[in-house]
Amino acid sequence: MIDRLEALRAEADAAIAGAPDEAALRELEVGYLGKKGAITEVLKGMKDVAPADRPRVGQVVNEVRGAVESAIARRRESLEAARIAALCEDPTFDATLPGPVPRVGALHPVTQVTWHVEEVFRAMGFMLLDYPEVETDWYNFQALNIPADHPARDMQDTFWLEGGHLLRTHTSPGQIRSMQSFAPPFRAIFPGRVFRYERIDASHEHTFHQVEGLMIDRDISVANLIHSMKTLLGAIFEREVTVRLRPGYFPFVEPGFELDIQCQVCGGSGCSVCKHSGWVELLPCGLVHPNVLRFGGLDPDEWSGWAFGLGLSRLVMMKYQIEDIRHLAGGDLRFVAQFR
Ligand SMILES: [Zn+2]
Repeated sequence: MIDRLEALRAEADAAIAGAPDEAALRELEVGYLGKKGAITEVLKGMKDVAPADRPRVGQVVNEVRGAVESAIARRRESLEAARIAALCEDPTFDATLPGPVPRVGALHPVTQVTWHVEEVFRAMGFMLLDYPEVETDWYNFQALNIPADHPARDMQDTFWLEGGHLLRTHTSPGQIRSMQSFAPPFRAIFPGRVFRYERIDASHEHTFHQVEGLMIDRDISVANLIHSMKTLLGAIFEREVTVRLRPGYFPFVEPGFELDIQCQVCGGSGCSVCKHSGWVELLPCGLVHPNVLRFGGLDPDEWSGWAFGLGLSRLVMMKYQIEDIRHLAGGDLRFVAQFR
């Protein structure tokens, strides 16, 4: 067996030294060292070797294998050196030409801002939760204090699915779902896609992104809500932003507010994003309505809370001064590549 191994080694040395190119070398590598290679085949005879001889034979096998491996490596190096040397001699080869630049992807600005928002809220002790995009009427409307005949349903044109299901029109169903899952006090955010059956234009899309926030505790106040909103917006825009709070009606909060941010695209002078008003509605917010707490299984005499629904797509547009919401889901890679 040792003789066979030595013979193989001599044969391999000659073949490797004579390999004309990388492809031939690769073939030899597989032929000797591969799973069905010649050396591997010899190894299968180990079981017939007398136990006393096995250590010596094993040692020779390792030596031969190592020798063949390094012969291949040496030959590979010299072939490569020869190839480069030949290129340098070639008068048509220009080593100063730039090489091909690999295409590098970029995170979508919505992803970047979502991650940023998550980071800000996690630092404030909020859980990050994820809820279904396909909802029931109960979670999307009824449990949020929007019964079947409520006019607020008209404000949210809905994509209805079969079997009474729908595409969630806001991230608010997460309020009920989280109240059902976690014992208070707790605080959580739930970012995600929402859907409206809307005519699309520069500021409306049928699919956009929201982040819902909910904090449930005893004795929650509006001051608490405003503080959290200011912390978030300051962190997102990395500067002081001008906001205003208007009373707003939303069935699931009482009292409810509309938080507006001064338009960051035009600086307040008026543009298509702010519909020439200088202000952009950024989020509805307020104290959780007692009925909603009840639907979530909590006693409104004991627990209170605040909630907000942040328009993430609008926030992204403000932050990066994007003038048309349709760019966000437009699928144009040239758009996304700008946010590398
Ligand atoms: Zn504007």
